[in-house]
Amino acid sequence: MRALAAVLAWWLALAAVPVAAAEPELTPFMADALWAPNPVPGSDGRRHLVYELRIANPTASALELKRVEVLDEPSGKLLLTLDRDGLARRFSIGGRRGSESTDLGVGQFGVLFLHVALEPGDALPRAIAHRISVRIVQPGVDFSATVARTPVVDRPLAVLGPPFTGAGYVAADGCCDSIRHVRALLSLNGHFTLAQRFAIDWEQIDRENRVVKGDTKTLSNYVIYGREILAVADGTVVSSRNDLPEQVPGALPQGMTIDQADGNFVVLDIGGGNYVLYAHMQPGSVTVKAGAKVKRGDVLGKVGNTGNTQAPHLHLHVMDGPSPLQSNGIPYVFGSFKLTAIDKAGTADFDKAEATGSPLTLTPVSPPQVLSRVLPLDLTVVEFAR
Ligand SMILES: [Zn+2]
Repeated sequence: MRALAAVLAWWLALAAVPVAAAEPELTPFMADALWAPNPVPGSDGRRHLVYELRIANPTASALELKRVEVLDEPSGKLLLTLDRDGLARRFSIGGRRGSESTDLGVGQFGVLFLHVALEPGDALPRAIAHRISVRIVQPGVDFSATVARTPVVDRPLAVLGPPFTGAGYVAADGCCDSIRHVRALLSLNGHFTLAQRFAIDWEQIDRENRVVKGDTKTLSNYVIYGREILAVADGTVVSSRNDLPEQVPGALPQGMTIDQADGNFVVLDIGGGNYVLYAHMQPGSVTVKAGAKVKRGDVLGKVGNTGNTQAPHLHLHVMDGPSPLQSNGIPYVFGSFKLTAIDKAGTADFDKAEATGSPLTLTPVSPPQVLSRVLPLDLTVVEFAR
């Protein structure tokens, strides 16, 4: 009886507390993060949140996106502001690369590809929200609301060993503002997937900072061609392929089917829910089959140019499942490497070097920095020791 009275008193006390629910508000947009972001420490000393925000227009009027602010929750501290110019580069109608716009038509949705860099010493937000400001074209009024709250995940990252030995490896199309991997959103089996979010296309330069010397149609003229590829951790091979022919470099192959896009490949289960994809390997070079146990440093095959590729390179990424496409791309770090230079001239400079044999425009890091447990960011040049 006494116990019942206590429960009743507790219930009455609880019921007396007013519920602090926000008043519902009609918003002319809907927004949600496709996946909760998980930060990655980068070779620049900062932590990076890379994620995607879907924004839809359910109204009978076109919308113009004017500003998106990323806010720490619950403090409200401003982490990033994207104005119209920034949005015009990062908001893609339908999530399709090449359809960037700040005009969101009636019934349309788009995907905003976000990159928030936290300064050294900044606390990691436990959650973030997004203050979205639009102009409702008819009748021509401005509207803002804070929506799309998402937790920030702080899952421990896989620590990888070197995929190669030696110097001059270039982390092309890497994190966090390059486009080809970071925005490789696919609609698969009725869902969005983004397995390549943290992928790197590894190439290599010679002493003259060239990725290819001589005829760009000849595979062996690429510095990285034929380089041995190493297991980045102990693990079990989930799947592999070894029979696809080399493509002629210089242009992407035509009519490539999705099941051949990775070319000859290895998927390695390295534990902890981390799966590593190695793609575009040389035909006949892949040494492992499904079920094989490998040790860190074991040779898995050689760098080739098979599948959907226009120059020899190793595509490497970590994902949360065994399917190279139908998984979510998750961040990872390398145990140790030496940072020797950065191509600050960007992807266009790299593409030119690959297409013409011109040297990369490198800014040396001197003295070179030995970095531990970080991700080499886009267009860094690194050396791996065994
Ligand atoms: Zn790639």
